[in-house]
Amino acid sequence: MEKSILGYKCTKCAQVHYPNRTLCRKCGHNEFTTLPLPKSGKLLTFTHLYTLPADFEVTSIGLGIVELDGGTRITGQLEIEKPEIGMKVRGDVKMVRNDGYNNYYGMVFYRA
Ligand SMILES: [Zn+2]
Repeated sequence: MEKSILGYKCTKCAQVHYPNRTLCRKCGHNEFTTLPLPKSGKLLTFTHLYTLPADFEVTSIGLGIVELDGGTRITGQLEIEKPEIGMKVRGDVKMVRNDGYNNYYGMVFYRA
């Protein structure tokens, strides 16, 4: 089954949040329903990290902030050789980290 990252949609104003919040950022309501976030969007900004915790399997990662279709922003790893701000990307949910006890899943983005 294809994995998804869940967003939290306000039941009053339909604003989608990620990660989850106690109160809606837009209207202050406190009830949400979950929905899978879209997996395509555009790259807003990015950086490259070279000093990672020991439980990462790679020596460096690209990290980007992506505005998904619908406007929700999410941080994810970039598997893109030469990222450009504003480029279209598509995401996939993958295991990004394993500390020996748990697998951590996150969004990994590729050139669309
Ligand atoms: Zn709301």
